Amino acid sequence: MGAAVSGAVAIVGAGPSGCFLAQALLKARPDLCVDLYDRLPVPYGLVRYGVAADHQGTKAIIRQFERLFERQGARFFGDVEIGRDIGLDALRARYDAVALTAGLSEDRRLGVPGEDLPGVMGSGAVTRFLNDHPDAAEPGPLGRRVAVVGAGNVAIDIVRLLAKGPEELEGSDLSARAAGWIAAGGVEEITLLARGPASSAKFDAVMVKELGRLAGLRIEAEAEGEGPAAEALRAVAGRGAGPKRLVFRFGAVPAAIEGEGRVAALRLASGEVIGCDAVVTAIGFEAGDNLGRDALRAGAEDAGRGRLAPGLYAAGWFRRGPRGTIPENRAEAQEVAAQLLADLGPGRAAPPPPPGAVDYEGWRRIDAAERAAAPSGRCRAKIGDRGAMRALAAGEEVSP
Ligand SMILES: Cc1cc2nc3c(=O)[nH]c(=O)nc-3n(C[C@H](O)[C@H](O)[C@H](O)COP(=O)(O)OP(=O)(O)OC[C@H]3O[C@@H](n4cnc5c(N)ncnc54)[C@H](O)[C@@H]3O)c2cc1C
Repeated sequence: MGAAVSGAVAIVGAGPSGCFLAQALLKARPDLCVDLYDRLPVPYGLVRYGVAADHQGTKAIIRQFERLFERQGARFFGDVEIGRDIGLDALRARYDAVALTAGLSEDRRLGVPGEDLPGVMGSGAVTRFLNDHPDAAEPGPLGRRVAVVGAGNVAIDIVRLLAKGPEELEGSDLSARAAGWIAAGGVEEITLLARGPASSAKFDAVMVKELGRLAGLRIEAEAEGEGPAAEALRAVAGRGAGPKRLVFRFGAVPAAIEGEGRVAALRLASGEVIGCDAVVTAIGFEAGDNLGRDALRAGAEDAGRGRLAPGLYAAGWFRRGPRGTIPENRAEAQEVAAQLLADLGPGRAAPPPPPGAVDYEGWRRIDAAERAAAPSGRCRAKIGDRGAMRALAAGEEVSP
């Protein structure tokens, strides 16, 4: 790359927004150096660690992102956390422009008493565990009755994975550990609670219909009103004769989580008490203190156009909040790329790679090892240990 480069851009976060942004930048300016940093040793963010293990078709977007590194010349620097391993100011000093596409990884809290009782789990913590994220601990036990709070697709993902039988997980990359956690829960009843009416639920109709095809479920839903989610719910209500009961409840506002030492019930604002052994909250995500997002946005004169400060941009969930599917990040990334390129002056040369970073070739070694280790009925065996990932990336032999 060296001499031909006439400008260097760092992207913090190699999830879909970072990848779409890099694609747009390099399409318009193939001469640029575009470096994607990620705190994980592997790229692709929530495509790998959020999108459900049984939705491999959705994960196939990765093949498009591979071209970014293999043909468009972007560089991947994994296992480098900006704000910890390299300060944001130090990164900005090395590049002409920096774009923050770091997503939102903290679970939004319900804000009700009892939320910290054992047995209450955030959907981010659960889905990271189900996807073998290296920083995800095993959540506590589930139990027979699980309440899922939320009206979006993440809530549906969790319900589906709790409901599926072993043969319905064929072809996924759900690990034995994750499948074992679900099975050990012995879930018999799932209650999905949404604050609003069915007409304002954010579920995709196709996700609801998929529930209607599961052998193990019997579905109950009183879904009134218009809209694709409500219609899809009416279509699946009464379906199935499986051993697991799934009840959709709308207009159900959680007021407190109750229990002695662990969750025993969820009390609604109406006063109704729903007995449960675990509560999974799926009500959105926030940045926590990652990269000082809130302060950066508050001080930005042009955050609406993706510019937080001169030479500093934001895109994806980090910019917009926890809304939108993978493809929805593409159009926005293109807008931010146009803004960034319009601001970019005569640029500098590519900086040297940060020491110890996992590069794209390192990720390919991890990827190959995971595919090679796939057990029967699975498409890969994800490695969930950072040490093993680093060793594989460095070309060392790692026993499974
Ligand atoms: C559980 C779940 C399931 C979903 N399922 C679907 C689905 O099936 N279909 C669909 O279309 N959409 C799905 N989505 C939405 C989709 O994942 C998002 O639209 C998309 O991932 C947002 O992309 P992003 O790049 O903004 O953030 P992310 O995908 O979160 O990527 C952010 C990246 O930044 C990195 N990072 C964070 N902080 C730092 C730092 N300080 N330094 C370096 N790197 C950092 C992270 O490690 C991560 O790789 C799902 C979301 C969730 C939460």
